[in-house]
Amino acid sequence: MRTLHERYETVCKGIAFAAEKAGRSIADITLMGVTKTRSLEEILRASTSLGLSLFGENRVQEAIPKISSWPGNIPAEWHLIGHLQKNKARKALLHFSMIQSLDSRALADTLERICCELGKEQVSVLMEVNTSGEATKYGVQPEDAFSLASYICEKCEHLSLKGLMTIGPLTGEERIVRTSFSQLRELSDVIARELDREMPVLSMGMSHDFQWAIEEGSTLVRIGSALFGPREYN
Ligand SMILES: *Cc1c(COP(=O)(O)O)cnc(C)c1O
Repeated sequence: MRTLHERYETVCKGIAFAAEKAGRSIADITLMGVTKTRSLEEILRASTSLGLSLFGENRVQEAIPKISSWPGNIPAEWHLIGHLQKNKARKALLHFSMIQSLDSRALADTLERICCELGKEQVSVLMEVNTSGEATKYGVQPEDAFSLASYICEKCEHLSLKGLMTIGPLTGEERIVRTSFSQLRELSDVIARELDREMPVLSMGMSHDFQWAIEEGSTLVRIGSALFGPREYN
């Protein structure tokens, strides 16, 4: 059994290696610990012993008890990275600092309305794009991404679009995975240029493909099993 520390070292080396290869600075790449299925104790250990402070959860209901029990004196930021149903939008806005899975006008409208009701100034969001073409994946289709981005920026004053998120294709084939990531980066560049705004976050890369994602420009890698060990379920 490898320890948390050993797995962390391996991930950090992988990040450094990919960054070096791409001529990028590791300071421009943020490591998120994906903590679905992990207990509060496990996450606290990762936080205190590794200094990790950014965590991603997939399910609102699973995350709330962990976020609510988190000790106030330990810095932590929580992002929602899984699909958000409209009826959970209020809870999500109350507990997460960023929603990475915004993928429809209907959800944007709901988030916008609830932000108003809650008196929230703004919430940071990423738009999830389905770059793999896999039907089982959530996310806006690439050809609809620009239109949704425009809608968010023009019609939803309480939503602050910070960038894009994608989940790479299941296949382990390098060329296919990298094409998916480079497509996300190109979309982000188009949106930034056409809407004349900063799109600082490119959230792509998981345990099995984060090095390719970094080579393709990722600024935020979402790592679960490579950090915490294999999961019992997804
Ligand atoms: C589970 C999950 C991850 C992390 O997956 P690993 O393969 O364990 O690194 C990253 N992003 C999303 C959206 C996830 O659902």
